[in-house]
Amino acid sequence: MELTKEEEQKLIQEAMQIRKNAYAPYSNYQVGAALMTEDGKIFTGVNVENSSYPISMCAERSAIFTAVGAGEKRFKAIAIATINGGPPCGGCRQVMSEFSPDMIVITVDETGKICMRGPVHEILPGAFGPKNLE
Ligand SMILES: [Zn+2]
Repeated sequence: MELTKEEEQKLIQEAMQIRKNAYAPYSNYQVGAALMTEDGKIFTGVNVENSSYPISMCAERSAIFTAVGAGEKRFKAIAIATINGGPPCGGCRQVMSEFSPDMIVITVDETGKICMRGPVHEILPGAFGPKNLE
């Protein structure tokens, strides 16, 4: 499931664009995510914080949960846009791994520069997964 350069650029642009909708008044760390399904559909998400801090939601999981709600479970890649290209948290890596351990994770900074790029199984080695419950 190859990610083309064009698809990668499209995902990065969508993540950077949607990041403007992030609701992060407490951390001031706005995150935008754009997720591509294996057949090329794109779902986006932003981080949504709350005055009750622990119930806040990450952009990556927001995008994935929206896609799953639309019937999608196989993903090719996710682009994550932040000010400094920060990596996804462990919880989001776990959720990515649940559906598509081989999906490509790309982080970019506010200029669109790629800071990290690789498959989920490399950034979450030894993940717990559905097989462990069989
Ligand atoms: Zn996260």
